[in-house]
Amino acid sequence: MSKEIPYKIYLEESEMPDSWYNVRADMKNKPAPLLNPGTGQPMTAEELGGVFCDELVKQELDNDTAYIPIPEEIRNFYKMYRPSPLVRAYCLEEKLQTPAKIYYKFEGNNTSGSHKLNSAIAQAYYAKKQGLKGVTTETGAGQWGTALSMACSYLGLDCKVYMVKVSYEQKPFRREVMRTYGASVTPSPSMDTEVGRKILEEFPGTNGSLGCAISEAVEVAVKSEGYRYVLGSVLNQVLLHQSVIGLETMAALKKYDIKPDMIIGCAGGGSNLGGLISPFMGEKLRGEADYRIIAVEPASCPSFTRGKYAYDFCDTGKVCPLAKMYTLGSGFIPAPNHAGGLRYHGMSSILSQLYDDGLMEARSVKQTDVFEAAEMFARVEGILPAPESSHAIRAAIDEALKCKETGEEKTIVFGLTGTGYFDMYAYEAFHDGKMTNYIPTDEEIAASLAKLPQV
Ligand SMILES: *Cc1c(COP(=O)(O)O)cnc(C)c1O
Repeated sequence: MSKEIPYKIYLEESEMPDSWYNVRADMKNKPAPLLNPGTGQPMTAEELGGVFCDELVKQELDNDTAYIPIPEEIRNFYKMYRPSPLVRAYCLEEKLQTPAKIYYKFEGNNTSGSHKLNSAIAQAYYAKKQGLKGVTTETGAGQWGTALSMACSYLGLDCKVYMVKVSYEQKPFRREVMRTYGASVTPSPSMDTEVGRKILEEFPGTNGSLGCAISEAVEVAVKSEGYRYVLGSVLNQVLLHQSVIGLETMAALKKYDIKPDMIIGCAGGGSNLGGLISPFMGEKLRGEADYRIIAVEPASCPSFTRGKYAYDFCDTGKVCPLAKMYTLGSGFIPAPNHAGGLRYHGMSSILSQLYDDGLMEARSVKQTDVFEAAEMFARVEGILPAPESSHAIRAAIDEALKCKETGEEKTIVFGLTGTGYFDMYAYEAFHDGKMTNYIPTDEEIAASLAKLPQV
């Protein structure tokens, strides 16, 4: 085992990126624009400005500027927990007895426990700069809400979080972390909003869903003076902020002259994967290098592998613009036994276009296989991974095992997006042998897709 490459490749603070990279600038086929559901026309900056902060609207619509400077205040915040390490998974390689070389970029070293803080601080910063009072958002498992409440408390902004009801009840500790940072947390659907009341009337006793919580948060933002809505994934601006992950990864690899063969990430709404792969995809799009890029999603919520590339609503209440994306339909809700996060019905428009153009691959994995990988990883590498991240671990292990068969010394890089301390009910179900896999039938997916809007 060669030890020339350290266990952890750290960058100096001075080597942190000073701009985000916007992969859209290098895409020949640009991602499809958001559409106004009323008119069917692309959303204008003015229309988007009613919901989102002005500077973020600019970033959302900018398909041309390759590098967007990171304001100094945001860079200073990043320094509290960045640069994040790129770890050589020597112990996992040893365990698997594989000739593959495995690296992971670890984004769990902050209190929110995930990569989401990278975009939360950027979005809160632009809201503050615009002189707003506060922001509203939704959260599922709670990582995004936690990240946003941290960013808002740092900047002195109010933060209203609509938390998917089942998570609100199952993850009380997440909720309390958010409240520690001063956020108000409301279980969704709630009686606070028109859309929440409507959903409760139609589906009494519902567990809630991300799409429903989004509708509530948007409604509150639009109706409250001095508030805007912010979103932790899916949007172009979020992928832009998350490019800090990929830029640091590329800089760390270059330090040791390492050329990855494949880059793997889990895909919920696509922000960590989009951020990780952006600079590599940029090289691929410009014809400078080639990489295999693999998105990994749950078999119970398979937007890329079984969804349709079409315009769809981003939320259940249909108050948001339409986005063209790989989708399972905005009414799709993964089975209740699905524990592993990544439960959004759609996918980033950027990644959807790249996937449709054949520039990246996707696969789905069953949750028991995901937790098996999570446990193996925890035991040898020490970090307790988030279930979401463990989708990427699963695929990295599978690829490393293929290398073992063929004897190929491939270099695999994957994104370890966060830690799983608040997911112990899911780990418990796995350990007790009670975790099951529910994979939606073709009929269920077809029924959901039949409700796609006609555009
Ligand atoms: C939110 C989250 C994800 C999935 O979101 P993406 O936008 O697809 O990155 C993955 N891992 C962790 C730890 C998360 O919190």
